[in-house]
Amino acid sequence: MTARLIDGKTISADLRGTVSDAVHRLRRDRGVVPGIAVVLVGDNPASQVYVRNKSKAVAESGMHALDRKLPAEITQDDLLGVVAELNADPAVNGILVQLPVPPQIDPHSVIAAIDPAKDVDGFHPLNAGRLASGLPALVPCTPLGCIRLAKTVHDSLAGLEAVVVGRSNIVGKPVAQLLLGENATVTICHSRTRELAQVCRRADLVVAAIGQPEFVRGHWIKPGATVIDVGINRVPRTDGKEPNKTRIVGDVAFAEAREVAGAITPVPGGVGPMTIACLLLNTLRATCAQNGFPEPSI
Ligand code: NAP
Repeated sequence: MTARLIDGKTISADLRGTVSDAVHRLRRDRGVVPGIAVVLVGDNPASQVYVRNKSKAVAESGMHALDRKLPAEITQDDLLGVVAELNADPAVNGILVQLPVPPQIDPHSVIAAIDPAKDVDGFHPLNAGRLASGLPALVPCTPLGCIRLAKTVHDSLAGLEAVVVGRSNIVGKPVAQLLLGENATVTICHSRTRELAQVCRRADLVVAAIGQPEFVRGHWIKPGATVIDVGINRVPRTDGKEPNKTRIVGDVAFAEAREVAGAITPVPGGVGPMTIACLLLNTLRATCAQNGFPEPSI
């Protein structure tokens, strides 16, 4: 059996198109243009690439990109000052501080300083708490993307046995909360989980968010299961071509898992593109909530 590919590129392009249409209507009918400020501290090369891609997507969606590039040596107080300015700026509906931040900055303090209503990354403790309490919240983008991808395979996730491997605040925990909200039966695994392969093998839906290349093997997957691979890992090329170059693989051994699963996300081209699309969706939602407009049904 060869699994159906869950095409994150196409699904995210559709979502971005729908968000763009809603942004266009907001501008036309209400004279409001959502604005998002992505704050980049320092010159981490991977962060620079992410931020460039985000800014491009923001501009393409018709929103305003109000990005701030700050020096690596900025003090925590000065960074908190920038966040306070953005909180107070009515043109800014969404604020995202790109992680990681340099060592002199405590990321938790910075996240806690963001106005929860503008916290489009969904990392503020108030939003995390609301999500855990089953209340409306701004929800982290990658987990939102995972659920949307799973729902392209399953009309309903209710009653599915779901196994999430990874318990980070950014992916594992919020994806597990969202799955609970969808009435799946959820198991969260981590580095101390015993018999991980066996636990995975009972899952109808596996979400892998570990950060270890091709860690989840094909024989860990129940035949016909859906596999959402969040991992982004750079590994050396093994095909002999351009040996100094790297390639990107997920947390799942894709070639093996594809032979067993019913549906699987590729890496790249699966969860990755959904993250930015969900950031745009969160910014649209935040803008509507801040202005007292009805929540967009996207
Ligand atoms: P993280 O903060 O490093 O968390 C990794 C989690 O995996 C931890 O909970 C850890 O367990 C668990 N883990 C590590 N090794 C394990 C093992 N051998 N067995 C079982 N569990 C293990 O990583 P993250 O931020 O969640 O990211 C996970 C992956 O997703 C990374 O590859 C990252 O690049 C990728 N990612 C992709 C996107 C996207 O847009 N596609 C967004 C965010 C992250 P402990 O808690 O016990 O240490």
